[in-house]
Amino acid sequence: MPSPMPPAWTSSADTMAETVSPAAPLRAKWFNGRSSRARDVLIVLEAGRRGPALHLHVVDLAHAASRRFEHDEVEWPPQWSAGRAPARVTVALRDHGSLEIDQPLAWQQALQSAGARPGLAQRMQTHWPVLLGVLLVAVLGLAAFYRWGTPWAAAQLTRHVPLEWERGLSERAMEQIDRAWLKPSQLPAERREALQAQFRALLARLEPGLKRYPAYAPRYELHFRRGLGPNAFALPGGTLVMTDELVEDAARQGLGDDALLGVLAHEIGHVEHRHGTRLVVEQGVLNVGLGLALGDVSSVVTLASTTLTSLAYRRQHETESDCFALALMTRAQRPTAPMAELLLGLSHGQGDQTEPAQRGGLGDWLSTHPATPERAERLKAGIPCKG
Ligand SMILES: [Zn+2]
Repeated sequence: MPSPMPPAWTSSADTMAETVSPAAPLRAKWFNGRSSRARDVLIVLEAGRRGPALHLHVVDLAHAASRRFEHDEVEWPPQWSAGRAPARVTVALRDHGSLEIDQPLAWQQALQSAGARPGLAQRMQTHWPVLLGVLLVAVLGLAAFYRWGTPWAAAQLTRHVPLEWERGLSERAMEQIDRAWLKPSQLPAERREALQAQFRALLARLEPGLKRYPAYAPRYELHFRRGLGPNAFALPGGTLVMTDELVEDAARQGLGDDALLGVLAHEIGHVEHRHGTRLVVEQGVLNVGLGLALGDVSSVVTLASTTLTSLAYRRQHETESDCFALALMTRAQRPTAPMAELLLGLSHGQGDQTEPAQRGGLGDWLSTHPATPERAERLKAGIPCKG
């Protein structure tokens, strides 16, 4: 360590007076960027407001000078973990060239006593458990975003989706479904009218307390079609479709209209909870959110997560609609067990009755309305839902 301080050291304007405990100066070579000749300098690191500041003292007596570089004026080299010290540290001073220090350990020590906090990246390099922790938090955060954040955001945003937008969407969807899969109903007109009358009576019992979105007033229409096997589905805005085959299936099983009404109540549940619109909005939220979170990492990730998520809430949507159907049927003083019978009958019969070509179509009721034993149990027993 040099014993006599050069004159510039003690006389520099911003002296060591402001430093509480001056660290030992470090020797360094300074390339000022203008001359190829290196100058011998001494550097001292001290705590500044935004992090360590660097004092540079030229010890070459002919050019005695001192300059303080604030934290932001220095490009601090990354810190390293114990045992991996480089032979030499290079510190860039932007317009003022760069420093080379041959005492890396002393440099690191001085940096730490001047209050440098190792950055996250450095801590991750140093401690792999931290890296694992960060990864875990990131993965959990993304998973939580898919599972809860997106549906929550979609449920909120859906409030602002106008009914007219839904009606337009459903009109176009219905045209496509009609063209591709459905034929006009062949049920006798009086049979259809009887079901329409019961459907209207059911809607009359749809009291405000049952509504998920109180201000939402869909315009309900029940349509009959042939095709798609025993099936029923709802489109956003209030368009419901029931197939002749479902009506015939219920009759074959000796189930009365309560079974069909229960299915319609379930479909009304999908409309009132705006499940279709929520799924569309969720896709949008997910794409935007993932874009923000991951940049443009991979469309595969987006696709996979989108699929996983929509499958996950589909189950939740079915539960919500079942609960809605239970409540509405109870208000209408209709039994719910026949609906459960119809569902179970479908799930048992579908496998051997349906042609493979008929499956996988848009309205494959079992894929969108899986008749799990729990669902059937709840509906059969009329177990009311919480909340
Ligand atoms: Zn459903």
